[in-house]
Amino acid sequence: SVWLAACQEDSQLPEKSVFKEDEMPQDGEPLKIGFAMDTLKEERWLKDRELFEQAIESRGLEVDIAAANGDDALQIAQAEEMIQEGIDLLVIVPHNAEATAAIVHKAHGAGIKVIAYDRLVKNAEIDLYVSFDNEKVGELQAEKMLELVPEGNYVYIGGAPTDNNAHLLKKGVFDVLQPAIERGDINIIYDEWTEDWAPEQAFAHMSQALEINGNQIDAVIAANDATAGGAIEALAQQGLAGSVPVAGQDAELAAVQRIVDGTQSMTVYKPIQQLSERVAALAVELAEGNEIEPTVSINNGKSEVPSVLLEPTAVDIGNLESTILADNFHSEEEIDGME
Ligand code: BGC
Repeated sequence: SVWLAACQEDSQLPEKSVFKEDEMPQDGEPLKIGFAMDTLKEERWLKDRELFEQAIESRGLEVDIAAANGDDALQIAQAEEMIQEGIDLLVIVPHNAEATAAIVHKAHGAGIKVIAYDRLVKNAEIDLYVSFDNEKVGELQAEKMLELVPEGNYVYIGGAPTDNNAHLLKKGVFDVLQPAIERGDINIIYDEWTEDWAPEQAFAHMSQALEINGNQIDAVIAANDATAGGAIEALAQQGLAGSVPVAGQDAELAAVQRIVDGTQSMTVYKPIQQLSERVAALAVELAEGNEIEPTVSINNGKSEVPSVLLEPTAVDIGNLESTILADNFHSEEEIDGME
């Protein structure tokens, strides 16, 4: 066949290209994309999984999906298996920004390109990074909180230190808060990371912050809705849920419900449909061997990574309808008390 002839010709080329031709599908066999996810714990990842699968399949390609339950060794093993089984491109949501560099090296060794989905892989020459603007997410949270609480004691409940997004979010938050901190208008009285974004740990952090400060807390910025949920439970134990403004992100159904109930002030909405569609479209381009035009490049400690950053939107009770409901991210029927 033409394809075989091309392979034979290519056997003269350097190793990388040989592998690449080796990975070319047989006539009629669709290209296959591997999607190595970290976790399905937060509600959003179920959407990511479903929408990404649809987006790939609607383009006539196949997708192989695995989730690693927050386990680095398992995530590496799952990705290795995909590489061995002959995927044409790897899309990864890294659990650990540093540890997953090993997977990128393995994939590249086999001539397979790698896209970092939502979270950056550090210190490896990844081919593309597609996410929301995570610094902007933090900025939106802090802007809203300063509007609600221009003076007072602030608690920051961070995300997982192993997740690059947690660092970007924190940078965004503190860039916006800094002038108010310098003026002495606000005090950061508590600031901790939350291992694996665990709500139970966020609950423990918040309980501790309340205890240390004799409940004198005026605002809480949590890195996502899961940690916001943990913090709000701790506030509720002190009878303070609803009287201390709390910010989160993800627009999880439970958080939207809390916004309606008045125990959470805001969340940040990131349309997963846009992310999964964009990654799928670019994955197909790369898998087919085409060049892509990135919008920005981001340094990951190793190289300038071609990147695409989508826009997040701040959501509170005032614009819930025109954002989350209008997009049908959640329906009115799903949210008690909306109808
Ligand atoms: C994502 C958030 C998510 C968090 C925990 C972050 O990398 O950007 O949307 O809530 O991980 O899974």
